[in-house]
Amino acid sequence: MFRSRLRAAALVLSLPLAAFAIAGTPASAIPPPSPGDGAQSTEEGPLDNNGVLAADPSQVPKPNRVSTAAAASLANCPPAPYGTQSVAPGSGKTVALTFDDGPGPSTLPIINVLQKYGVPGTFFNIGVNQAVFSTTVRGEAGFGLVLGNHTWDHPNMTTLSLADQGVQMDETTAEQMSLVNEPTCIFRPPYGSYNADTLTAAYQRHLAVWMWSVDTEDWKANGSSDPYWVNRIITRAEAGSSQQHPVILMHNQANPNPATVAALPTIIEYYRNLGYTFVDLHGGTGYGAAHPAAAKTASGVHLFARGTDGAVWERTRNNGVWTLWSSLGGTIYASPTAVATGPTETTVFVQGLDNRIWTRTVSDSGALTAWGSLDLPPILTSSPSATLGADGTLSLVVRGTDGAVWLTQRTGGQWSGWQSLGGSITIGPAITATGTNGLTLTALAADTSLLERHFADGAWSSWQSLGGGISAEPALTATVGDTGVVSLVRGNDNGGWFKVANPSTGPWTGWQPVGGLLISGFAALTEGTKLTNVSGWGSWYRVG
Ligand SMILES: [Zn+2]
Repeated sequence: MFRSRLRAAALVLSLPLAAFAIAGTPASAIPPPSPGDGAQSTEEGPLDNNGVLAADPSQVPKPNRVSTAAAASLANCPPAPYGTQSVAPGSGKTVALTFDDGPGPSTLPIINVLQKYGVPGTFFNIGVNQAVFSTTVRGEAGFGLVLGNHTWDHPNMTTLSLADQGVQMDETTAEQMSLVNEPTCIFRPPYGSYNADTLTAAYQRHLAVWMWSVDTEDWKANGSSDPYWVNRIITRAEAGSSQQHPVILMHNQANPNPATVAALPTIIEYYRNLGYTFVDLHGGTGYGAAHPAAAKTASGVHLFARGTDGAVWERTRNNGVWTLWSSLGGTIYASPTAVATGPTETTVFVQGLDNRIWTRTVSDSGALTAWGSLDLPPILTSSPSATLGADGTLSLVVRGTDGAVWLTQRTGGQWSGWQSLGGSITIGPAITATGTNGLTLTALAADTSLLERHFADGAWSSWQSLGGGISAEPALTATVGDTGVVSLVRGNDNGGWFKVANPSTGPWTGWQPVGGLLISGFAALTEGTKLTNVSGWGSWYRVG
């Protein structure tokens, strides 16, 4: 399985050349549908809602709806144009993969495929399904996927008044805010059916209305994985290569979509080989694959990674020789974190499918403890990050359901309750111990710059911005020098960047490039004053 990932990484490397090669090819974008006043209807999903909703809407409690004026999306989303869009953002040739009607049972299998190739996706979720599959929504947030609004219970919007259409949007936004504290800034009307009131209601809420330009009609497979449907979906998706910026419509509804999952690798490889860049509907190239984690014990450097089967995999490098990957099992969201908890013992922590922290310990002899979960509320909307202090305290941070950083610490074998460290972050956090009892943590702000906060001399600093434009979960490692910290990130150019600080005595340096072309963030280890191991998915692995 990891072999195939490495092949994908090699393909990533070839992208700039391919993009360069097609730069001179004129291609015209398909114009978006007219936003006109009349109702428009095309096919998006089963017309009778069969298999779309995960529950009877009358049985699903509704969130406290945000008012139009106070809508979280209005406060946090940039103004959206009036009308609809269906041209994937970005320059060159770009393609957007979009998945409607989720979350559902096929959401995680779809995410696994996206992670394998390090490509982003946009998920237009239904409020009812978010309420039923709330842990999946938190998992989507942990992967940094773009989440869109697809109404509360999938009505034909043209049958509703302006006010009721607004209610459909606001309830879904409120549900998502309650689950992951992220506003949704994009909207897609069920069945692609909208009228002037839909456009007005979305415009008032700063919701950009996104249609599509390529319809795979994957929902017609109706739960079948028959090759007929797989091939039909592939053929219809590939027809979008006549466009420079196709937006491809697929589904992850309550009724499973195994044919969609099966078709997806072929579709991704097809567009990648044609030199397309994959983008989400915010124009980002995504936070890529889950990053690896690293820890060093007597037997060498241990790398942990999320496999494309969703399990945790481990390999060890000793005397310059890597073992093969072996599975530690489990099914996780986002990235693992690992800590050397003894001279010959490594402990791995992950975000479980229940949004709790799960952990197991690996000894150098190969002995494994059973997976166990920490007895703490399931607030995770990110990967965990853990570090071991010089005094033996384990510190672990996550992004909570409120978007803030939350900390738990283990001393004397007991984990503390969650403690909020505040902040408003989108991706991360990363934490590392410094000196005798210091801590430094970083995370991404909404504008993709890096935020930092540290604990030194018994007190937490305030949050400060370290700038930058970052496109993956950040990594941190200590120590360069005595209480020094290295921050390693994947920049918006998909290359590696770092900066260094001694948080208790001095400022951070500027950003310095380390090159590479990555589909994930990093894991990093230091030894004394040297950075000894940096790894990330993509083209790149280095020991220095
Ligand atoms: Zn739909």
